[in-house]
Amino acid sequence: MPALLTDLDDPSLLSPDAVARTLGTDPAQGLNTDEATRRRAQDGPNTLRATPRTRLWQRALAQFTDPLVLLLLVAAAIATGVWVLDGRHGWPMDAIVIGLVVVLNAVLGLLQEAKADHAVAALARMTEVTSSVLRGGQLQRIPSADLVRGDLLVLAEGDAVGADARLVEAAALHVQEAPLTGESEAVLKDTATLPEAVSLGDRLCMVYKGTAVVQGSAKALVTATGMDTEMGAIATLLDATTAAPTPLQREIARISRTLGLAAAVIAVTVVGTVLALSATRTPADLVGMLLLGVSLAVAVVPEGLPAILSVVLAMGVQRMAGRQAIVKTLAAVETLGSASVIASDKTGTLTRAEMTIVRVLTASGSTQVTGVGYAPDGRVEHQGAALAAGPLRDEQTAVLSGGSLAGNADLRQTADGTWEIQGDPTEAAFLVAERKLGAHTRRSTRFERIAELPFTSDRKMMSTIARDHDHGDERVLITKGAPDVLLGRCTRARVGLEMVALDADGRARILRDVGTLTDAALRTLAVAYRPLGPDEDTSAANETLERDLVFVGTVGIIDPPRPEAAVAIREAHGAGIRVVMITGDHPRTAVRIATDLGIVESGAPVLSGADLDALDDAALAEAVRRTSVYARVAPRHKLRIVAALQADGNVVAMTGDGVNDAPALKAADIGIAMGRTGTEVTKDAARMILADDNFATIVQAVREGRGVLDNIRKFLRYLLSSNLGEVLTVFLGIVGAGLLGLHGEGGAVAVPLLATQILWINLITDAGPALAMGVDPITEDVMARRPRKPTERVIDGRLWAGVVEIGVVMALLTLFTLDLFLPGGLVEGTQPLAQARTACFTVLVLAQLFNCFNARSETASAFRGLFANHWLWGAVLLSGLLQVAVVEVGALNLAFGTVPMPAAQWGLCVAIASGVLWFSELRKGIRRAMAYRRP
Ligand code: ATP
Repeated sequence: MPALLTDLDDPSLLSPDAVARTLGTDPAQGLNTDEATRRRAQDGPNTLRATPRTRLWQRALAQFTDPLVLLLLVAAAIATGVWVLDGRHGWPMDAIVIGLVVVLNAVLGLLQEAKADHAVAALARMTEVTSSVLRGGQLQRIPSADLVRGDLLVLAEGDAVGADARLVEAAALHVQEAPLTGESEAVLKDTATLPEAVSLGDRLCMVYKGTAVVQGSAKALVTATGMDTEMGAIATLLDATTAAPTPLQREIARISRTLGLAAAVIAVTVVGTVLALSATRTPADLVGMLLLGVSLAVAVVPEGLPAILSVVLAMGVQRMAGRQAIVKTLAAVETLGSASVIASDKTGTLTRAEMTIVRVLTASGSTQVTGVGYAPDGRVEHQGAALAAGPLRDEQTAVLSGGSLAGNADLRQTADGTWEIQGDPTEAAFLVAERKLGAHTRRSTRFERIAELPFTSDRKMMSTIARDHDHGDERVLITKGAPDVLLGRCTRARVGLEMVALDADGRARILRDVGTLTDAALRTLAVAYRPLGPDEDTSAANETLERDLVFVGTVGIIDPPRPEAAVAIREAHGAGIRVVMITGDHPRTAVRIATDLGIVESGAPVLSGADLDALDDAALAEAVRRTSVYARVAPRHKLRIVAALQADGNVVAMTGDGVNDAPALKAADIGIAMGRTGTEVTKDAARMILADDNFATIVQAVREGRGVLDNIRKFLRYLLSSNLGEVLTVFLGIVGAGLLGLHGEGGAVAVPLLATQILWINLITDAGPALAMGVDPITEDVMARRPRKPTERVIDGRLWAGVVEIGVVMALLTLFTLDLFLPGGLVEGTQPLAQARTACFTVLVLAQLFNCFNARSETASAFRGLFANHWLWGAVLLSGLLQVAVVEVGALNLAFGTVPMPAAQWGLCVAIASGVLWFSELRKGIRRAMAYRRP
């Protein structure tokens, strides 16, 4: 067995070969797949894990540690004790019922937790960061979690470094190591073995997990994974991000605590009152009171709330994933719901990134390029022969060939004869146009690439250096890039076969040309070149070579807007959300496309990167209020725009794809990365990933986010009002016993509901209907409202008011039933206490079930979309049937102190309980009428 597990104390002191030998790997081919699989099994996944997974029994046990549950268990124990002392007559019914309730609650809680965990785990899989490795000489893209020691990493710009590794090859590799060293400048790495041990930030021949490649490429041997990495050494809570409670969960926890306190106060008050009023004080009475107090406390506190909340959030996350929006944390669902600005890239998100050159402009004239189609899947479609609306002049061949040479895309013919592009669509557009115009034939044999100065969105240009075999192997620099940028580096222009000095007229003509293209919503690129002198140094290709260029011509590229983007923008505007376009493209192209898409009206202001540089923060804060199009910006400008928008009180969702966009994505409230064209670094920094790179998906996600928040408010309304109804029933029932004719034998105080009945109500009416409300279909008007302010509470004054009104009505209806059935009181009845209590108990349950339909909206009638939620109907019917059972089945009568009711009484109960629905309809009607009269 190779010395695989030898500890590499400091691989930076060993040569790549020595490291490879120690790790038992081949520095050219990498590990073979079998060995990689074996090591993966042996070492475990390459993840940072701070908190070990809890086991099932631990989670089950945790269900019983809730103070309320403990209270219930204590009550059950006391009830059993009294039953034993009393001589064990029959069964200890109270204790049994309490035990069952506790167990059922624990099972429900476990199921809900499992469901939420499952959804979060599924998300973690979808947002997995990947790495490229060579295994057995084959290049593979694998989840970074599967990296093992000895793997040969292949790094490129935009990659997140997946593990600690020793470089074996590096080409202009710049790594951003801030997460590890705090150093914000990217570090230039090389492969040289270090003579002595140095600190982390100076180990130039190493790369570390958690850092990012901002430029260049490399190969490196993995020396440590998982918690053995340098990141692992400092990680204590890194993977806790998904588990951190969301603002809403914190708000709910706060409310639960308050309610817990209220519960204690209410329980003590009620029990105290009963004891004070009551004449008899037998041990059984005392136990009865204790049970009542505990049950009341249980009724007040919506103990299932946190679990239901995470299930509902998690299900929202799953639904979003189904719509191509992968959010990484539950909190992001909430934040999405309150987004007030969506700042989006243009290319690929608002447009289709299907680039087709349609115009070529040079000093000698213009050529229209037609017949070149481009299909969404990257296939190039032939539409007959291309037409050039003028004789193809030499400069125009030079533009297309030059553009093709100064790029990295490829055009390939597949087995079935169709053409396929590979690489950047902008670059591929040159290859396609060149081929269609028949200008490609000699290029590939004539030029031989020797160096490259890469494109960055900061530079907005790229160059290659090639040897020209037709000109005595002379070296030539060929550049393509944004015309305005390129022009600044040109001193000459090509006219026909001549090179002439570029005077002011010449520049003005070129800018006019560019203007005609940009105003037609075309993306523009220019091409220039310069023959290099024999003594110019190209070994370390440097940007100073890009000077004194010869301007050749400009192309206009059409990149059609996504049709669905315009629809989504309208929807966003309707929802009070501003859409902002931030692009590297030319200001006039940007404004034209923004106007076509409906982001702005024509004539709207546009700010360029240069404009932004000239503004100080105060001026920018003012400017962002008016400006929705930003053009020719570099990634660093995005950060300023986000900050200014946030300072203005906005919740900002922002897209990004390049490695330099990561800081802006982190700063935004919701950073959004592109699933298809985005870099690993941006996916890592983002809170949401667009699987389809499509703007419309963002708006869909906002809609889902708002829907989830709405649903949460629905079940909060339901649970809180129902629980309040129960408490008020008991409390008012005891206080107003005289008015109701409620008293036990021999003048003893009687309670309106028995402890076991209260527990039953909680069991059958809480979790099921509340969960079903959590998946309520989104009502159409979620996008007709303005975004929720981040400071706004979910449970606001309006919600509380509704809760109190409904709770009071519910209690009054229930107590009215009691009075109606009992002799004496305000209304004279004829039924015995057990019968009256059964009716009262049933009305309370049914009123809660009616209340499910009320709670679905604050203003809309319950009858609107009454049957839209099948789950809710299922839950309501099930609870209804269980209530029938508890009243009509003999064994349950015994346990719950109920007696069977004739059909007429059932009818009466349903009619009275429905009062809660009619009351709510009335209330909503008044509210709608008032809203209608308000302007
Ligand atoms: P967005 O930020 O909306 O995605 P974008 O993709 O147009 O906008 P960049 O990719 O930064 O922004 O491009 C900015 C400009 O740089 C383009 O308008 C074009 O002139 C030029 N450009 C784009 N791609 C290349 C390339 N591969 N080589 C040379 N120049 C390019």
